[in-house]
Order: sequence, then structure tokens, then C-alpha cells
Amino acid sequence: MNAPGNVLTLALSKGRIFDETVPLLARAGIEIDPQITDSRKLILPVPHANLRLLIVRASDVPTYVQYGAADLGVAGLDVLLEHGQQGLVQPIDLGIGKCRMSVAVAKGFDYAAAIRRGSRLRVATKFTSIAREHFAAKGVHVDVIKLYGSMELAPLMGLADAIVDIVSTGSTLKANDLVEVETIMQVSARLVVNHAALKTRAAELQPLLSSLQSVVQAS
Ligand code: ATP
Ligand code: MG
Repeated sequence: MNAPGNVLTLALSKGRIFDETVPLLARAGIEIDPQITDSRKLILPVPHANLRLLIVRASDVPTYVQYGAADLGVAGLDVLLEHGQQGLVQPIDLGIGKCRMSVAVAKGFDYAAAIRRGSRLRVATKFTSIAREHFAAKGVHVDVIKLYGSMELAPLMGLADAIVDIVSTGSTLKANDLVEVETIMQVSARLVVNHAALKTRAAELQPLLSSLQSVVQAS
């Protein structure tokens, strides 16, 4: 479905990212009708703002923007780094979706000693690139095991020695007798723009980017 004329397409995921982006847009003068979110539609028009929202899976946001199927998107730094930054420009840290990427192990597992021994560490994660890069930079040999969720189970069941995952309060780790042993990076959601659109659609993009920039700076 092609948008008429010069409508901009913004990709974002349901849940936390959507819920935290809507107030930012409102402060930038773009009111989203709350009713709109109740529908099962995946393309949500916001005609008064010359915008439409695409509802995609969080990890698919960079893909839509990279290929220009969306002009811009909102995605966590975790997702962006895992995907790779090709074809993407990342102009604004939106300061929402704040969390961190950490290494955690089962309570009682001697992480420092395991690393010192130089034996291969088994690491379960959804973020295989980030994990590989992190341990390579430390000179730690790892076998990375890809999981899609419930990472906390892996050390408990002996599937892995450690996990690399998103942590916010740490209560999920605690509930599963895991301890955070290393912070890899601080994470927040970023606005990403298709590299080509930044030039070809500058007239429509620039006002939106600058008002979002002001909103974020003021918060
Ligand atoms: P799904 O939960 O559907 O498998 P997902 O985990 O990628 O997909 P969300 O849980 O909505 O999707 O997370 C979206 C983004 O929000 C993440 O990429 C991350 O940047 C951020 N995030 C994840 N968990 C938290 C958290 N507990 N607190 C704050 N931000 C978080
Ligand atoms: Mg999630």
C-alpha cells in the first residue's frame, strides 16, 4: 500500500517502544489517537501529521528502515547493534526504553575464575553478535548459543555458563538465582532514519527530526 504524496512512514514495535514513543510524539505536536492502538491494523495513519506508523516486530525495525520500506523507525540500541548499521543514520537518542546489556551467571558460579582459566565459556543469548564482540574484545573464548527468549533458564539447566541479556531492574535475574557480573553497555531507544531518505525526503524529515530533538533535549 503506497502512501499518498509525501507521507512519512515510521516503523516501531508494539509494547514498551510504542507506549514510550507516543508521548514523545505528542510533545512534538503529533497527537496519536489512543483508539488507533486498539485495532489490529499494522499500518496506522496519522493524517494530520503527514505520517503513518508501521507496527513491526522490534528486531525488524532496522530492516524496514535499511531497505527504505519505512523512512524512519524507533529501535533499541541493542537491536540496532545486533542488526548492523548499514543504510541507517542514527540521529537522535530518544532517552526511552532505558536498560542495560549485561552478562549474568548462576549464583555461585565463579565467573572471574572461569575467565582466568582461559577455558571456553558457554554463553546463551539472543544477542549473538554483541556477545561475540564483547568477549572477543576481552580475549575470552566463547561458544555462543542462540536463544530466542527465557535466557535466564540456560545457566540453571546447564545449557550455558553465562547469559548476555537486557537487564532493567534485575528482578528477573534475582528471581532465577542469577547475578549480574558485567555490564556490556547502557541501552536506550534511538530514532533511525533511512540513509537515502535523509537526503531525498529532507523537506518532510527535517521538521520532524528537529522537533523530536528539542523534545528530547528538554526532558
Ligand atoms: P519480544 O519481547 O516481542 O520478544 P523484544 O524483546 O525485542 O521482543 P520489547 O520487549 O518490546 O521487544 O523490547 C523492545 C526494546 O525495549 C528492546 O530492544 C530494548 O531496547 C528495550 N527493553 C527491553 N527490555 C526492557 C526493560 N526491561 N526495560 C526497559 N527497556 C527495555
Ligand atoms: Mg521483550
